[in-house]
Amino acid sequence: MRLEGGGHRPEGALVGAGALADPAGALAEPAVLRLENLGKRYSPDRPALFAGLDLELRQGEYLAIMGESGVGKSTLLNLLAGLDRPDSGRVLLEGVDLSTLNDDAVTLLRRRAVGFVFQAFHVLPYLSVEENVALPLDLLGVKEPERSRRTALMLSAVGIAPLARRHARELSGGEVQRIAIARAVVHRPRLLLADEPTGNLDPSSAAQTLALLRAQVKTNAGAGILITHSRTAAETADRIMVLDGDGLKPG
Ligand code: ADP
Ligand code: MG
Repeated sequence: MRLEGGGHRPEGALVGAGALADPAGALAEPAVLRLENLGKRYSPDRPALFAGLDLELRQGEYLAIMGESGVGKSTLLNLLAGLDRPDSGRVLLEGVDLSTLNDDAVTLLRRRAVGFVFQAFHVLPYLSVEENVALPLDLLGVKEPERSRRTALMLSAVGIAPLARRHARELSGGEVQRIAIARAVVHRPRLLLADEPTGNLDPSSAAQTLALLRAQVKTNAGAGILITHSRTAAETADRIMVLDGDGLKPG
């Protein structure tokens, strides 16, 4: 059984940086992510994609969500990141109910609190490796020399420091995915979301990418969700859930 967040943090309050440096205090914080009775329907004449989803993810947890193609895994991730709105239920990120925020406020919260590794990478081919990784810091207004310092640390952490000045378009799939991971965690998000991050990689690059993701969830992010249809990949997380037409169940 998990402890419920006991704090009565006013809605909209930001979690201070001190919470991350204080693992004991983290238990008193609200869950990193909470889904309550979440449902999504794309069209009134089609059945709901899913409904009644409940989930809680606390500081330090790494969860894999598996499911067949088309069950709504990417849709679910978009809802969690505030990139799309649900039709029923609520998403709470760091205790903040996204439905109470306008689109601009959701964007600001997402930039600060969420890191996203997309299935198709979304790495910008004509930027250098270091420019790609520095992007989230630019968006948050982090200035030099702090921006370069944090970017360089991140490039080393994922093993691509020697490639810093190269253009992303010149690199292999595995190297590009390292850029995507570095970029997703460089701002130390509370929540790291990865949508089938190894779908386009050979087995050896996939294994390295999964190990790197797990290490980054445990060191640079508060909690993580890995979307995958591979059980081998899912087993690199702490626990596995399966999404199907009946909802989200332990898998
Ligand atoms: P998964 O990631 O599990 O493969 P998706 O979330 O991408 O599934 O899609 C689930 C279903 O929702 C699919 O049938 C897809 O065609 C449909 N869908 C996804 N995005 C949209 C959209 N923006 N508008 C309408 N239908 C969508
Ligand atoms: Mg998908």
